[in-house]
Amino acid sequence: MADADSETLFEKIIAREVPADIVHETERTLAFRDINPEANTHVLVVPKTRYRNLAELAAADPGLLADVATTAAAVATSEGISESGYRVVFNTGSDAGQTVFHVHAHVLGGEQLGHFGR
Ligand code: AMP
Repeated sequence: MADADSETLFEKIIAREVPADIVHETERTLAFRDINPEANTHVLVVPKTRYRNLAELAAADPGLLADVATTAAAVATSEGISESGYRVVFNTGSDAGQTVFHVHAHVLGGEQLGHFGR
């Protein structure tokens, strides 16, 4: 696993150095399908500027966090799950299983989701 300070895969996806199935883009955000989907719809939304986790993003640039949320909602609409329902998750740290240290929102839906937690 990459350490929390090294460049991540998501910078390479943003720079188009690594391919991804991009579904939505704005000036400050990018959304692409998760390579290992955990629901029928599983899209990741990232800010183009790197912050390691939700707390760093919220503290440094609340407007950018709002852009991530707006993009997540736009993805839900374009994926056709805004009415049926969806979940937005920011994993933070090891207990939550964060593996990529470039903050990202998971947008999950397209089927009945289980409860979360343990
Ligand atoms: P997290 O575990 O919250 O840090 O989420 C990282 C997510 O990135 C996982 O759900 C992975 O399946 C996903 N992922 C890893 N590599 C890629 C890739 N090349 N393209 C799209 N998603 C990826």
